[in-house]
Amino acid sequence: MNVYDAGRMADVMAVHGYAQTDCADEAEITVLNTCHIREKASEKLFSDLGRLRRSSRRRARNEGENAPIVVVAGCVAQAEGAEIMRRAPWVDIVVGPQTYHRLPELVRRARTGERGLLDIEFPLESKFDRLPEEGASQGPAAFLTIQEGCDKFCSFCVVPYTRGGEHSRPVAAVVAEAGRLIEWGAREITLLGQNVNAYHGEAPRGGAEWGLGRLIRALADLPGLARIRYTTSHPRDMDEDLIAAHGEVPALMPYLHLPVQSGSDRVLAAMGRRHTAGEYVDLVGRLRAARPGLALSSDFIVGHPGEEEADFEATMALVRTVGFAQAYSFKYSPRPGTPASAAGNQIGEAVKADRLARLQDLLNAQQREFNRRTVGRTVPVLFDRRGRRPHQLAGRTPAMQAVHTTCEDPESLMGEIRDVIVTEAHANSLAGELADARSPFAGASRNPETGRAIA
Ligand code: SAH
Ligand code: SF4
Repeated sequence: MNVYDAGRMADVMAVHGYAQTDCADEAEITVLNTCHIREKASEKLFSDLGRLRRSSRRRARNEGENAPIVVVAGCVAQAEGAEIMRRAPWVDIVVGPQTYHRLPELVRRARTGERGLLDIEFPLESKFDRLPEEGASQGPAAFLTIQEGCDKFCSFCVVPYTRGGEHSRPVAAVVAEAGRLIEWGAREITLLGQNVNAYHGEAPRGGAEWGLGRLIRALADLPGLARIRYTTSHPRDMDEDLIAAHGEVPALMPYLHLPVQSGSDRVLAAMGRRHTAGEYVDLVGRLRAARPGLALSSDFIVGHPGEEEADFEATMALVRTVGFAQAYSFKYSPRPGTPASAAGNQIGEAVKADRLARLQDLLNAQQREFNRRTVGRTVPVLFDRRGRRPHQLAGRTPAMQAVHTTCEDPESLMGEIRDVIVTEAHANSLAGELADARSPFAGASRNPETGRAIA
């Protein structure tokens, strides 16, 4: 979501003549877009700010220029705006995730010498109505925010405080933005939201609000769009229509990020997740019945207050039962203002570190095995990036695995979906050869995803 937000901030500034630069030392405005979900992420901001201050002072001294305008955006800005201004008074602008459409006006005021500009409201107007429609292309694999905020208040999580209450964009706005992304070259769209499957958007022609399943079916009809994904979803919001969509919509990729956090019912209750481990496993069963071979990813937290060894073992057991294609796992990190941070039964750092290492060993082994099973298979890959070496290009399989391959003219395949024969599996990626480069008879077969002949 931060990548998406950063893109929208660039769009908003582009209207006023600014362009992005890869070189921080060239920038007239530097925006640090921040995440507050774990402690590490917010501590990083203050070390980045220190570095930025040293380099901008050096630059102002060397070149006699004005120091660049420094903006802190995102969820740390929302949560710690005043604290940022106090600890780093050279920061010109602090803007929260709901008001970055006002960035040009804030920059204009900073340019006239105003200091300490802080805008962390949750305004009544939706920022999406204020963002420019035209923007830079996101390339073949694009993101589209359809929902923001959360009303679930899990014990450990700052999202409801930093991103505010749940808000879904109207169907018509989502479809229009999807259309523009496709026009600019998107073949794949990942629908984003903190709780994306809680989506309930205003229907295009009145009537009952649409859920995510219905929205996905409508987007799948857009010409040119080959792949749809969504993230991040909550097990409790997985309704029957969405489960069925996994079986019925070929464009909906057979990969799902479905965070479970823990495999212990006691910890899940303390987290306020409002489902059990058994219900999660049952849900996975129904999803896999709808879409055989569905690859799963998840989020895990180890060391939530009160987590005992037996609870952690229950998480390990759930991982063995489900089998994940990949996953993200974190040590519990107390976040200011959340109920869990005030709990008395905090877990020691060494115990957290030990559990995380054991969990990651298991998850990594499952990921390696998942990748290894792809070797020898032919998989459709959407190419969206150049590789680091000449003639190399990279893309993703339907199950989100990164794939590298080589060809004479990588540029010509950018945005194309082509069959690749997987030859090697690594921990985090695959390598392969283009199927049509290998077989003179490849023209006879069809790409199962696009239905097109491979030629
Ligand atoms: N809405 C999603 C989660 C979004 S936050 C859900 O309910 O599943 C992304 C991930 O960050 C979470 O799934 C969780 O695993 C992790 N996370 C959030 N708060 C955390 C904390 N205080 N400590 C450690 N990990 C945390
Ligand atoms: Fe945070 Fe997700 Fe829980 Fe909402 S549902 S509070 S975003 S972990």
